[in-house]
Amino acid sequence: MFTKERVEQLKSHATPYYFYDLDILDATLLAIQNAVKNKPYVVHYAIKANANERILERIKKSGFGIDTVSGNEIKWALKNGFKGNEIAFAGVGKSDEEIQTALEAGIFTFNVESIPELQVIDELAAKAGKKALIAIRLNPNVNAKTHHYITTGLEENKFGINYWELNELFEQLEKLQNIELKGLHFHIGSQIRDLSVFKNLCNRVNELQSEFRERNIDLDHINVGGGLGVNYQSPDEELIPDFDAFFSIFDQFIDLLPNQSLHFELGRAVVAQCAALISKVLFVKEGVKTNFAILDAGMTELIRPALYQSSHHIQNLSKINEEATYKYDVVGPICESSDCFGKAILLPKTERGDLMAIRTAGAYGQVMSSQYNLRDFAKTIYHDEL
Ligand SMILES: *Cc1c(COP(=O)(O)O)cnc(C)c1O
Repeated sequence: MFTKERVEQLKSHATPYYFYDLDILDATLLAIQNAVKNKPYVVHYAIKANANERILERIKKSGFGIDTVSGNEIKWALKNGFKGNEIAFAGVGKSDEEIQTALEAGIFTFNVESIPELQVIDELAAKAGKKALIAIRLNPNVNAKTHHYITTGLEENKFGINYWELNELFEQLEKLQNIELKGLHFHIGSQIRDLSVFKNLCNRVNELQSEFRERNIDLDHINVGGGLGVNYQSPDEELIPDFDAFFSIFDQFIDLLPNQSLHFELGRAVVAQCAALISKVLFVKEGVKTNFAILDAGMTELIRPALYQSSHHIQNLSKINEEATYKYDVVGPICESSDCFGKAILLPKTERGDLMAIRTAGAYGQVMSSQYNLRDFAKTIYHDEL
């Protein structure tokens, strides 16, 4: 991602900023398109991972739909050229206003997460004189084997309808007149690196789908959500996730009916590797056990380490060809001890003014920025604007 020439260009911009290499995004999108070619698969990009317009423009060109979790995401997707019928809408707490927005937009599906939600959507659809297209988000109780803050498919999580609620669900589905059941939806977590998890998901989806078939309920699609992880440790070894391996799990293990389509909602795997947070070292401070490299970017720009204990690969771009033999705790300037990008990180000897890159920052990075400490938002610079 960082040639010598590019590092020189990066140096001329005020830090901190998000740097996006859209060539990496394009290569990633192409890999996904190739992996799903000639299959009844539809990919919805999970817009919450990164909603920048230039990113959405390329995703749209690749023919993907959108996965949303708020009314404003639906509006933003429409504004960026996506059609209502390409938009899926999940979330455990959809407000009446958001449901109305979605009804007006004529979305692909409400991914319904509870029976009370189903009833409210039915009521609001009646009022709007519309039929709401829905998928039922089922909680499959499959362990995603990822950080517990990004695990969503276990019974203890707030997401989806549980197995023991199925009978009540079937009763409601028969009763409610303003909804049309189109599919089943699942999403068990994020940053899933162990692909056997998706095999377990397929097996569970097959079991749950048979419950619907036994009742002669037709489903035109199955939506298995997102969750495919990326390589945060060594991004350059895996700039493009192994989409062939991912999709082939579903080829092998999911039972699709002849006219059924299979939908995916990938977020992180699409955009994570195309960005880095670029920052400068403000001070190097000698501590008791360790030296601190204090950056001008912090948890306000990238909260993932503080929020999920995640670690991103950190590079000293000013010393990119030097050997990493010194250890630093790399921290931000925010008044929180959790404002730390990594402990005991091996770097070349690092000094005030060095340009630093925090890699794999394209997903759940800029979108989660805050102005805590009344900081300015970081700027955005694309590879063709350097
Ligand atoms: C966040 C989310 C996704 C995307 O997850 P990734 O791990 O980024 O692929 C997909 N579906 C739903 C319902 C989500 O909430």
